[in-house]
Amino acid sequence: MICEVIVDIAHSEVDKIFDYVCDFPVEAGTRVTVPFGRTTVTGFVMRVKEHSEYPSEKLRKIYRGDDYPALNTECLALSRKIAERYRCPLALTLRLFLPSEMRTGKVAERYRSYIRIADGAYEPPARAAAQTALLAYLDEKGEEEAPVLREKFGGAVSALLKKGVLAEEKRQILRDPYRGVTGGGAHTLTPAQRAAVERVSSTPKTVTLLHGVTGSGKTEIYLTLIANALAAGKTAIFLVPEISLTPQMLAQLRARFGSSAAILHSGLSAGERFDEWQRLRAGTARIAIGARSAVFAPVENIGVIVIDEEHDGSYSSETSPRYDTFDVAAFRARYNKCKVVLGSATPAAETYRRAVGGEFELVSLPDRINARPMPEVRIVDMRREVRRGNPSPFSAVLREKLGACLDAGNQAILFLNRRGYSQTVICRDCGYVAKCENCDVSLTYHSEENCLKCHYCGTRYKMLPACPSCGGVHLGYVGTGTQKVAAELKKLYPAARILRMDMDTTGGKEGHYQILRRFSEREADILVGTQMVAKGHDFPAVTLVGILDADMSLHFPDYRSGERTFQLVTQVAGRSGRAGETGEVVLQTYDPDNYILRFAAKYDYTGFYEHEIGMRAAMAFPPFAKIVRVMVCGADERETVAALKDTYGRLQSVYAAHAESFLFFNRMHAPVKRIQNKFRYQVLMRITDESVLKEIYDAVSAEKHKNVLVYVEENPSNLS
Ligand code: ADP
Ligand code: ZN
Repeated sequence: MICEVIVDIAHSEVDKIFDYVCDFPVEAGTRVTVPFGRTTVTGFVMRVKEHSEYPSEKLRKIYRGDDYPALNTECLALSRKIAERYRCPLALTLRLFLPSEMRTGKVAERYRSYIRIADGAYEPPARAAAQTALLAYLDEKGEEEAPVLREKFGGAVSALLKKGVLAEEKRQILRDPYRGVTGGGAHTLTPAQRAAVERVSSTPKTVTLLHGVTGSGKTEIYLTLIANALAAGKTAIFLVPEISLTPQMLAQLRARFGSSAAILHSGLSAGERFDEWQRLRAGTARIAIGARSAVFAPVENIGVIVIDEEHDGSYSSETSPRYDTFDVAAFRARYNKCKVVLGSATPAAETYRRAVGGEFELVSLPDRINARPMPEVRIVDMRREVRRGNPSPFSAVLREKLGACLDAGNQAILFLNRRGYSQTVICRDCGYVAKCENCDVSLTYHSEENCLKCHYCGTRYKMLPACPSCGGVHLGYVGTGTQKVAAELKKLYPAARILRMDMDTTGGKEGHYQILRRFSEREADILVGTQMVAKGHDFPAVTLVGILDADMSLHFPDYRSGERTFQLVTQVAGRSGRAGETGEVVLQTYDPDNYILRFAAKYDYTGFYEHEIGMRAAMAFPPFAKIVRVMVCGADERETVAALKDTYGRLQSVYAAHAESFLFFNRMHAPVKRIQNKFRYQVLMRITDESVLKEIYDAVSAEKHKNVLVYVEENPSNLS
């Protein structure tokens, strides 16, 4: 039998199919070990066939393979498609489908060895003290894990195993992430929820956009659709944007579906992830839940794919291949003839346009569960606060409402876009701004550690005693971060218990989860955080939300900044007043007449959408054109510029041949000129015809540049 094998080396030169002879039965999709050049590598059987065009004496033999195919036919087809679409090595796309520990061999054993004393008496020789101690230990404990025992008693363990005095047994251990997590039971669907479920099922369209305000009960709709899929003997994929959300969702899924639900995300330990993946592949778990990479879950016969918070930026991959999760889901939906459900209170303008245009089914849920009112949003003009001599990050209105909220025994969430203590450190004498040595960005002061941190590469710097430029000692802080807000709150409300949630406080696998759990168990009164607090959390006791700097994201140099601000404000506001009392929102801004904030304050999505889409059309921004950015990054500036010139030259030929399809074409420094010691250049394009995309990819992949990374981004969600 001949196997076409792709070796797991992500290099375009070896990204070819090689024929091997196989003398044991194997199916396409199986992971195999093969000789390659003078080494041994892992590969994947792409196809099994009878004959090769190469003479059989030239073909080498597959050494061995797994006893199951890691990739099914669908996965193989999908990986080919992705490799072709994004012009990346097939080996790289195959990796998307496997837990990474399977490739690196780093997976912790799924089996653990235990050692106990075998039957029969044995007297160790008098001089073998270690053996005597070992036997005494086991006599007492009954059994022990093999590695622990070897650590304690060294060679004595092997000696006694060999003699048959000890017996070793391998036992499978089941790693079950979030085992202790449980959630509430099912609700009886409201008429609106029932109608939504029916529409998704009955529409001839593959994709349904569920546009429901925050608190409209979308989760219950997803869970019902998933339950229906399981009842029909099918499987389901449930995608959520952030790991921090997964435990809550998983709790609900667990309560509902028991161990049928498997979680796939990078926050798990290698072993846990591998086990969850195996459970899905073997069919013992039938619901895959996770962030974007879970769209590659090894499930067959899919009944429904849910993408919650579909507008979230995390759904487009920022590493090669730079796939779009929705496109992958759409492929799998076609393959499995199943439905895709996109849910959001604030759909991306692109998505909403496809829905009103009739390509997607549009289901709207304009009301909250039990007709609970949306929290009232009060816009506060911060310019007036400054004029009144209030330099603090809290307006008078917010302070008053916070006090009332705390007095009533309720909880509050304060949102702002920046972590750390202050945004930047500047010298008041000469204007020097402290910057990162590896990145072209200013540093942020963190008071707890009394250091400066780069938020791009994570490097820490000692706090400066004086200005390195002029020697002056009048260093000042500009801007406010989460840390500073928490500190100021402590001064204003000494009795209040404050929790902070940002990148600095959420380390570890369950960092987010622990903070959210503590807040939901009322261990704190105020939660201060970055956008992490904006996502779908459901805290019944929260009656006040303060948005401290609504302008931050507005002035981001990105065509989506308006949309993002609208989404952010709506999402954060949606955390308020979800249960008993009506919620309130205080939105602080220096730009109180901004139309985006006005629409957001009125929860007027359609108003916002009409305005936004009109502007996009006028400016020829997506979805009316596509932004394509070719990034050129390298540690050596000369090499990087050379690669840029070369790439630019080839792109220019594409441009010259199809000038009518380009609205914009230029090369330049990337806005952040250096990150992690890599110089960054870009060729920025705006195209109106998708068909030139192929040629752009061709031009970029035509030549490999040593030490310089060149790649294509489509409608990048981050243009820095
Ligand atoms: P969304 O995801 O649309 O923001 P959720 O799914 O979080 O909304 O639901 C909001 C709240 O309403 C939750 O507390 C949820 O438990 C509750 N809920 C959802 N469906 C029902 C229902 N049919 N009956 C009663 N309460 C419900
Ligand atoms: Zn840096």
